[in-house]
Amino acid sequence: MSLFNRKTQTQSTANGNNFLTELALATIHDGVIITNRSGVIQFINPAAVIMLDCGSAENALGLDYGLLLKLESKEGRELLENENPLIQAMRTNQQIENQAVCLVAGPSAKRIPVAISLVIANNNESNRIITFRNITKELAEESEQAEFISTASHEMRTPVASIEGYLSLALNPQTATIDERARKYLTSAHSASQHLGRLFRNLIDVTKLDDGRLRPNFEPVEMVGTVKQMADNFVMAAQNAKLNFQFGSNDPATVNNSGRLEQVVYGYVDVNFLQEIMNNLIENAIKYTPAGGSIYVNVLGDGDRALINVTDTGIGISSDDIQHVFQKFYRADNSDTRTIGGTGLGLYLVKQRAEAMGGHVWAESAFGEGSTFYVSLPRISGDEYEKRMIAVNNAKMVPQTPVNNNNQGGKQ
Ligand code: ADP
Repeated sequence: MSLFNRKTQTQSTANGNNFLTELALATIHDGVIITNRSGVIQFINPAAVIMLDCGSAENALGLDYGLLLKLESKEGRELLENENPLIQAMRTNQQIENQAVCLVAGPSAKRIPVAISLVIANNNESNRIITFRNITKELAEESEQAEFISTASHEMRTPVASIEGYLSLALNPQTATIDERARKYLTSAHSASQHLGRLFRNLIDVTKLDDGRLRPNFEPVEMVGTVKQMADNFVMAAQNAKLNFQFGSNDPATVNNSGRLEQVVYGYVDVNFLQEIMNNLIENAIKYTPAGGSIYVNVLGDGDRALINVTDTGIGISSDDIQHVFQKFYRADNSDTRTIGGTGLGLYLVKQRAEAMGGHVWAESAFGEGSTFYVSLPRISGDEYEKRMIAVNNAKMVPQTPVNNNNQGGKQ
């Protein structure tokens, strides 16, 4: 039987190439589905039939793609419509290239990690060609590599901390006497050991976030107060760097006679993740802004999102660099950044943490004038916040079940 359904099949080519095309589509291990522009399935190859566990190609033809291609995030989280890459690509006529997601396949809802792509055919029908590749093995290999990096970083962190500690003692006039030349060498060694320590801590976080060991612990949060508290921790550091530091909008349009208009914005986030994100963004703003500059941190409600911005008037990022700064180990290389230390992992961790909470990050910048980093996180209504707070408080009040009834007074 032909791979192609005769009702919807593309016309055979006169030169017989169709046979080879069919053969190729029948033998590859990647799933291939072709839909019309409304998303109705017109073709499905055998690999897709097996992966989606739909029995036969005939069962799939004529169905809406969404009935078969159910997706979750690569971490296994349910995707909202505006987060589902297929739905978005179908709606906005955009392509997708190798996006890692989890396929929820067939009646047994088996989870298969896949890299999914969508290409729009350049024909009258504007057919959508969706391909998906099982990446279980790749992920296992990546996870082995990550495990190695994580173990190595753990093992190296302890001796590095000890080197850092001894160098601090050597540099402290109360614990050691050294001459000026030795001080110069040891100061360099001390700052290098601090850099290594930071690198290992970041590497451990990267591997844990990449392989899903570090998962967010969601709780209802009043965002404005929480982010303000986090930002306030940096008031001293900003002062020491001779920077003006302000929480709240710097836009005169949001200020009224009685002061600043403060919105109440509720979010459903992991507070530790949020803290790490704010630490990274504000530390960078301080690091990359020369003395005399300003830093503004603000939170706004933007539809169903809570939008945080960290704005600085610092060195800025060129348009070539800005598309890469959230990648692992990427550091802009120019005369300004060369003298400023860093690991190139901070913004990658910001992105990973924000995305793990269902959020997004992006940056806008004018080179030489300053940068704004945005973090958009899921927002909840006041009612939803109250409900979730009651649930959290109730959970806290539920007495813990004793582990062993015969040993209630003993140590557990
Ligand atoms: P690093 O440890 O190098 O700061 P990050 O991942 O935090 O690593 O940032 C990646 C790169 O993005 C930095 O090396 C720097 O070039 C650029 N960058 C980040 N934040 C800023 C900022 N506020 N202003 C200018 N450049 C920035």
